[in-house]
Amino acid sequence: MKFATKTIHAGIEPEPITGAVMTPIFQTSTYAQEGIGKHKGYEYARTQNPTRTVLETNIASLENGKYGLCFASGMAAIDAVLKLLQPKDEVIASNDLYGGTYRIITKVFQKFGIKASFISMDNPAEIENYLTPKTKLIWIETPTNPLLNLIDIAAVAQITKKHQILLCVDNTFATPYLQNPLDLGADIVMHSMTKYLSGHSDVVMGALVMNDEKLKQELAFIQNACGAVPSPHDCFLVLRGIKTLHVRMDRHSENAKKIAEYLKQHPKIDKVYWIGLPDHKNHAVALKQMRGFGGMISFTLKEDTLQNAIRVMERFKLFILGESLGGVESLCTHPATMTHASIPAEERYKTGLKDTLIRLSVGIEDVEDLIADLAQALE
Ligand SMILES: *Cc1c(COP(=O)(O)O)cnc(C)c1O
Repeated sequence: MKFATKTIHAGIEPEPITGAVMTPIFQTSTYAQEGIGKHKGYEYARTQNPTRTVLETNIASLENGKYGLCFASGMAAIDAVLKLLQPKDEVIASNDLYGGTYRIITKVFQKFGIKASFISMDNPAEIENYLTPKTKLIWIETPTNPLLNLIDIAAVAQITKKHQILLCVDNTFATPYLQNPLDLGADIVMHSMTKYLSGHSDVVMGALVMNDEKLKQELAFIQNACGAVPSPHDCFLVLRGIKTLHVRMDRHSENAKKIAEYLKQHPKIDKVYWIGLPDHKNHAVALKQMRGFGGMISFTLKEDTLQNAIRVMERFKLFILGESLGGVESLCTHPATMTHASIPAEERYKTGLKDTLIRLSVGIEDVEDLIADLAQALE
């Protein structure tokens, strides 16, 4: 099956009793057993739920993986992967990560004796300098937030395979429509399904996809033992969202292209960060491992003052000021005061994250309206 067919059909069959075409919401905590130890594969809803099973099968198929596991949030999925580790094990993560990923590693798992280093992976060969016999996991995110840096997944996978280290890729920004890390050699793909996969800003959920059966068993054990599972109703909503993923992503990308080109020629704009622009520093990596460029854009203003950024953002009428991304509606955030406020200004400036950096999650509205909104806000 091709991608657009999988979004609608993979793992999804009409319900056998009534023929319902849409996967029912199995709102039950338990299942009748025919006899002791005799059941239909479902015993207790933390362990298995039919609505969740369909979603897990579907997301596995979209990522060209064998097994999918869904969690109560993206963070719960990350938590499960980190629980594969033992005290004194080491994780090496890229230094440009979702803030929550950095926080769970440093504030939660370091307490339990997990060691972590955060390094630049611009040149993957340098990872080898940081490996020790205790390195068990490499964690990367690509593209990253908000500067849309990319990491060459296949190059990192070559190193993790050579040293038998697990590689987990947070694929939230790209989605399986644009990038499939398992095909590039990753062991686990992680998603915050809260974003593009659900696509309508109405659910919080996470997922993991993998090919190795033993790894799947370990992660399913953690999923059940720790219990951060999604509700059947939320699984239904994400299944519904995924059916239009490919159509939405095409429009997100198309709109983002036009907006990036508009901003690029605007006299008040300093830099535009969109991975589809040929002058983006990682454009070549995007061409190598992605099938499109997505809907995330960041830009800075020439008049580089915090006040100026706030003035522009307060003038937006369509772009809604808010955290999160990947919904049908356009959103804007101000990383310096919102998502990245905890990083000292000097550190932020070094990475290019200036006070006037504005991040857009470009929605699927009419692009002319979006450009008109930007034009009046920048006036
Ligand atoms: C949102 C996000 C997460 C965390 O997911 P939640 O669903 O909010 O728990 C992890 N990684 C990335 C890249 C994200 O954007």
